[in-house]
Amino acid sequence: MADRVELIEYGDAPWYDLGPIHPLRPSRVLLTYRLIEEYGILEADHVTRTPAQDATDEDILRVHDEPYIEAVKLAGRGKRGPWWQFGFGPGDNPIFPNMHEASAHVAGASITAAEGLLSGRADHVFNPSGGLHHAMPDRASGFCVYDDPAIAIAWLQSHGVGRVAYLDVDAHHGDGPQAIFYDNPDVLTISLHQSGDTLFPGTGFVDEIGGPGAEGSSVNVPVPPFTPDRLWLQAFRQVVPPLLEAWKPEVLVTQLGCDTHYTDPLTHLMLTTGAFFETATMIHELAHATAGGKWLATGGGGYQWARVVPRAWTIYFADMAETTLPDEVPLTFLLEAESEAGEPVPDRLSEPEIRDSPVSPADIDRIVGEVRRVIFPYHGLT
Ligand SMILES: [Zn+2]
Repeated sequence: MADRVELIEYGDAPWYDLGPIHPLRPSRVLLTYRLIEEYGILEADHVTRTPAQDATDEDILRVHDEPYIEAVKLAGRGKRGPWWQFGFGPGDNPIFPNMHEASAHVAGASITAAEGLLSGRADHVFNPSGGLHHAMPDRASGFCVYDDPAIAIAWLQSHGVGRVAYLDVDAHHGDGPQAIFYDNPDVLTISLHQSGDTLFPGTGFVDEIGGPGAEGSSVNVPVPPFTPDRLWLQAFRQVVPPLLEAWKPEVLVTQLGCDTHYTDPLTHLMLTTGAFFETATMIHELAHATAGGKWLATGGGGYQWARVVPRAWTIYFADMAETTLPDEVPLTFLLEAESEAGEPVPDRLSEPEIRDSPVSPADIDRIVGEVRRVIFPYHGLT
């Protein structure tokens, strides 16, 4: 029997929109829905759409502090206040209208996804509007107001789920879920990212292993800038499957940021859609092999909002739905995306791998070696 797959629809709630010049554009998500539709993935019987619900204050309070939530509400209503103390200001986290309502909707979309799994409605669920993994309990950070992956994990644990694994493949360190579950021995956080030596938020080193009693539950694989597909995939294969097999999560939560792409304007990795295809297949297999198929996926970073993000997330969702897509991107989508982007958009899903990189297999072996030496013993692995 085919997996039951769900796409969480954002609907007509206020958009999570940080303004016309901000790199995190809502169009990323809208165009992703459009491409998924144009490829006909939603027409399959085992694939459904579910409207997102809002997160309640009770849901958000499992992760965020009350004064912070109050600040988000007031600032989003245009009230004056010391909002810089909560991480707001020009640049990464400008205040925007209905900030609480939009952020609570994104968090609610990830909770709706979690509900889908727990209720048995679905085996795999994708919330493309989610993945805001830099938000901290008491402040906004890195374009993120409420940490929806962490809020969904806390919701799962408050509804009887024990062990959860969180896997983050965004170019930036998944510092929010790491910090929020650092002392929680039942949540494994694994983040593969561009090293904090060269990229925001400047954290995510191998020695950040988890708090007292939770050692080994926080895993970081910081790769160098300019890491290409085959070396990034080498690191993934040598670290992620053994840890998930040892952890045996009841639910696998993945943040699928695609700002790892070689054309992303904010980062310096060299992945192509080829890596996204392979990662989708590996994660799908791991969800079945280690978590009874229970897979909650969110979006994440990705700042080539028309040229890369819709293709990347459609590739992931198609694998989730076990649908093989023609390589040609539907013309209807192309015309729409190009008119919105004002520039040509790639007309194929696949891309040639980037071969010319200063990063060597030895560089990756060294990092993986350190992760295995520091982390694997906590999982009974060598
Ligand atoms: Zn990112």
